[in-house]
Amino acid sequence: MAIIVLKFGGTSVANAEKIRRAAERVIKAAKKGFSVVVVASARGKQTDGLIADALELNPEPPERELDQLLSTGEIQTVSLFAMALAAAGYDAISFTGGQIRMITDGVHTKARIKSIDAERIHNELKKGRIVLVAGFQGIDEYGNITTLGRGGSDTSAVALAAALDAQQCEIYTDVDGIFTTDPRIFKKAVKMEKISYDEILEMASMGAAVMHSRAVEFGKKHNVKIHVRNSGKEIEGTKITTEESQMEDIVVSGATIQEDMAKISLTNVDNKPGNAARLFSQLAKANVLINDIVQTEVSPQKANLSFTIGISDLRAAKKAVEAVRGELNCDDIFVRDDIAEISVIGVGMRSHYGIADKMFGALARAKVNIDSITTSEIRISCIVDKQQGHKALQAVCLAFELDRPAPKRKKYKKRKPAKK
Ligand code: ADP
Ligand code: ASP
Ligand code: MG
Repeated sequence: MAIIVLKFGGTSVANAEKIRRAAERVIKAAKKGFSVVVVASARGKQTDGLIADALELNPEPPERELDQLLSTGEIQTVSLFAMALAAAGYDAISFTGGQIRMITDGVHTKARIKSIDAERIHNELKKGRIVLVAGFQGIDEYGNITTLGRGGSDTSAVALAAALDAQQCEIYTDVDGIFTTDPRIFKKAVKMEKISYDEILEMASMGAAVMHSRAVEFGKKHNVKIHVRNSGKEIEGTKITTEESQMEDIVVSGATIQEDMAKISLTNVDNKPGNAARLFSQLAKANVLINDIVQTEVSPQKANLSFTIGISDLRAAKKAVEAVRGELNCDDIFVRDDIAEISVIGVGMRSHYGIADKMFGALARAKVNIDSITTSEIRISCIVDKQQGHKALQAVCLAFELDRPAPKRKKYKKRKPAKK
C-alpha cells in the first residue's frame, strides 16, 4: 500500500478542536487506501512557552536539558492525536523520535538526522495502524534527546517520507501554500502553484519560515514530492518540484526577510594566509552556523572581515571570536543584532539582466540604507536596519511585482548564451 506522510504545524493542532479536524484529514487519507504516517509539532506557541520557562530559571540553560524539555511539546501532541484517532475508531500508535530511532548527531538544539529505523514504522503500518511521530526530535548515539532547530518538524516529516519511500509528503500549515513572500508582512503576496527545490531552499535558508531549509534539502536529495497546504481549507497548496524549463522565465519568484540574525565584523585583521581558516575553524568547533561571509582587503597588510549568523548562535560566536582575537591581530570587533536581511530569489536570475539594479533602486527610493550585499547564482541579499526591514521588503516586492502572478509580470532582457 502507498504511504503518505502528513505533517501538521503548531497552529494546526493548537487545541482539541483543531486536533480533531486534523484527525479527520488523516482518516480521509486512510479511507483513500493510504498507509498514513503523521508528524506533528508542539501545540500552538508551546515551544516558545517552554523556552521562556527555561530562561526564567537559567538565562543560559544547558542545551542538553533544553532539548529534553522542548521535545515534550511534540510528544504531547502526538499522544493526544492518537487518542483523537482512537476515539473516532481508528487504530493509531504514537512514537517519540527516540522510539523510531531517529538518530542524529549530538549537536543539541540544531541536530542533523543521520538515520531512521523505517522497519518499526513499516511493521506498525502493516498491522493497519496509523503511525504518529513526534516532530523536531531525535536521539544521538548515546541516547540523549536532541532537537533539529526551530521549525524542525518539517524536516522530521520529509526525512521520514524519504526513509519510508512515501508517495507524497503533505505539509499542513496556517497559510494557503508558499507565497511570493511572507503574506503576513506583504499582504498582496500571491500563492505559487509550484516552486523548484532550489528556490524554496534558498527562500527557506534566507528566512521564509514556511519550510525548514533542511526539509527541502532532504526532499531534493531523495526526490520527495512535497505539497504545502492550509490545514483549515480544502484547496490545493504549493507543490515543490524539480526545475522545469519555463521556471527560468520567472526572473524573481520570491522575496524573504530574515530578522533573527546578527553580524560580527572584525576590522584591520592581519592580511596573511591562515587567518580566515583560524577564525572559522574556531567558529566551527563552537558549532556556529555561518550564513554569509564578506572579506575585503583594505591594504596589502590588513583586511576587514564580517559574517552573519542566527541570533541564537551569537553568544557562542562572540566567545569563539574572542578566543582567536589576539592571533588575528584585529583592531576592533563590532556586533550588530539590530539588522534584517532582505533577499530576492529566482532561478531566472542566472539568465537575465537588471535584477541587482532594480533591487538597489527600490531600496534607494524607499530611503533604506544598505549595510552590506551578498549574492549567489539565484539570490541577491541586502542587510538593512531591522527597523526598516518590513518597509524594505515591501518596496522590493512591489518593484519585482510580487503582488501579481508570474505570467503577468514585466519581462527582463535575457542574456545571450556565451559563444564557444
Ligand atoms: P507551522 O507551525 O505550520 O510550521 P510556521 O509558522 O512555521 O507554521 O510557518 C508558516 C508561516 O510562515 C506563515 O504563517 C507565514 O507567516 C510564514 N511565511 C514566511 N514566508 C512565507 C512564504 N513565502 N509563504 C508562506 N508563508 C510564509
Ligand atoms: N515546535 C518546534 C518549533 O516551534 C518545531 C516545529 O514547530 O517545527 O520550532
Ligand atoms: Mg514551521
